[in-house]
Amino acid sequence: MKVCTKENITGYIALLDTAGIEYTRDVPLAPRTTLRIGGNADVGVFPDSEKQIAEAIRDAKKCGARYMVLGNGSNVLFDDAGFRGAVIFTKKLRGVSVDATTLCAGAGASLLAVTTAARDAGLSGLEFAYGIPSSCGGAVCMNAGAYGGDMASVVAEVAVYDSEKDRICRLDASEMRFAYRKSIVGNGERYTVLSVTFELECGDKNTITEKMTELMKRRAEKQPLNFPSAGSAFKRPAPDKYVGKMIEDSSLKGYSVGGAQVSEKHAGFIVNRGGATSDDMIKLIGHIKNTISENYGVDLECEIRLIPEKA
Ligand SMILES: Cc1cc2nc3c(=O)[nH]c(=O)nc-3n(C[C@H](O)[C@H](O)[C@H](O)COP(=O)(O)OP(=O)(O)OC[C@H]3O[C@@H](n4cnc5c(N)ncnc54)[C@H](O)[C@@H]3O)c2cc1C
Repeated sequence: MKVCTKENITGYIALLDTAGIEYTRDVPLAPRTTLRIGGNADVGVFPDSEKQIAEAIRDAKKCGARYMVLGNGSNVLFDDAGFRGAVIFTKKLRGVSVDATTLCAGAGASLLAVTTAARDAGLSGLEFAYGIPSSCGGAVCMNAGAYGGDMASVVAEVAVYDSEKDRICRLDASEMRFAYRKSIVGNGERYTVLSVTFELECGDKNTITEKMTELMKRRAEKQPLNFPSAGSAFKRPAPDKYVGKMIEDSSLKGYSVGGAQVSEKHAGFIVNRGGATSDDMIKLIGHIKNTISENYGVDLECEIRLIPEKA
């Protein structure tokens, strides 16, 4: 996409006004991410329906305005200079409903809301996702997973806006091309997740609750939940290769650049110890990658999505 100019944004805002879609100019991104890093977006858009999301994207394309869709901001690193363009937030699409063993959730529904709704309905399958600080849309996009489960194993169907064909359609699980921490959604160039349908199994409420409690306990024991982070910083290079261990064995636990630090609790996490800048994060990520490449000959891939100020 070409550079997003002030004129592109002005034109976009005029279309949002006409469509009656809520927006705010100069939206601070740091408080909207779990890393608490990032400057302002030129405009933050807050659609309240699937139709409005589709329209917000269609209008952005019409005006040549750069855009991205954001869920709970738990897997992104924005630049301190912000985002030149529009960030479209899904948080208003947070409906959750259950019918027999089928659970439907809006893209902006939190996994907390979804997993507890499943538990309350006595439905099993989503326990692994309890504690992932994600929106449903972000979880599907990333094929979020933990403790042996992932979205691919429970998603039946996803409603998406296809910006190439300018239409809302439904993709079944096989069409989602789920793989380790990725899906057909990619970086959201073409598809935006609007809602997700999960197919679950009947289970015993107490057993489900116990499993969720146990997994949350394991998270709290292992993960640095007392500091801002974006979860695991790197993807696992192979199923049997643990990045945290490689980083720890490379004596990088606790290593820091400015306010960004390799967590002292779990070396797979990079935490913001206070005042970390995007530059601190990027330098630290680079240092870890170089060290692991030298020590293991492994080229680590970042799991956190780095979002540049400009396209
Ligand atoms: C403490 C902590 C623990 C974590 N534990 C786990 C874990 O156990 N397992 C795991 O997999 N991850 C984990 N994560 C990482 C993160 O929570 C997941 O990657 C999560 O799925 C991201 O969802 P989100 O809504 O926050 O996405 P965001 O960070 O908002 O966005 C991530 C990407 O998804 C895209 N996106 C978001 N919504 C949509 C949509 N509706 N349509 C199209 N694209 C969209 C964005 O454009 C962006 O590219 C953890 C993070 C933290 C901070």
